[in-house]
Amino acid sequence: MNLILFGPPAAGKGTQAQRLVTEHGMVQLSTGDMLRAAKTSGSALGQQVAGIMDRGELVSDEIVIALIEQHLPAAEAAGGAIFDGFPRTVAQAQALDGMLSHRHSQIDVVLRLVVDHHALLSRIAKRFEEQGRPDDNPEVFETRLSAYAAQTAPLLPYYQISGKLIEVDGMADIASVSAAVDAALDKLGLQKVPQPRFKPAAPVD
Ligand code: AMP
Repeated sequence: MNLILFGPPAAGKGTQAQRLVTEHGMVQLSTGDMLRAAKTSGSALGQQVAGIMDRGELVSDEIVIALIEQHLPAAEAAGGAIFDGFPRTVAQAQALDGMLSHRHSQIDVVLRLVVDHHALLSRIAKRFEEQGRPDDNPEVFETRLSAYAAQTAPLLPYYQISGKLIEVDGMADIASVSAAVDAALDKLGLQKVPQPRFKPAAPVD
């Protein structure tokens, strides 16, 4: 199963993606994480995108599409991809559909975390204090929210028409959001992967 986690920055997509990875054995494809890793490594790609990311703007479609193209086969082989932060433009969504249909595959569900943009500002202020991500500072975050409104939100009708869009209240506490996400995925037949029981480590002599 391939699913898209959809919503503005700080809506909780990463939290849900990581949980689904653990509980369902899927693979998270976060273009934000991939780009941050490139930035930290100081690679040519990292240097190319650093300024754009620090300003809170979107990097080019070509760059993120190439990153997804590179990671998609392994994700599908592992049982499915959770797209987190991708697609963010109509061109990216169309490229993703093309890539998947080329592989005789498709997006099965788009889970939208519905959030209040004003509440996000206080959520992000807390994350900025805790994690210090440069693009979480209030001014840059406003730019990220504007990019979402102008370039990403127009994707909603695209997915609404396909009948694959499911909306979940993203303002609830994490446990309730998780329960709502699981209920939606259960209906689509996504099975939980049995979790290994905790086994105490053998004593070392
Ligand atoms: P995120 O962690 O998903 O909020 O992404 C952090 C930053 O990486 C964004 O503000 C953009 O600058 C860049 N980015 C991540 N994913 C994309 C994407 N799909 N399209 C364009 N830019 C992206």
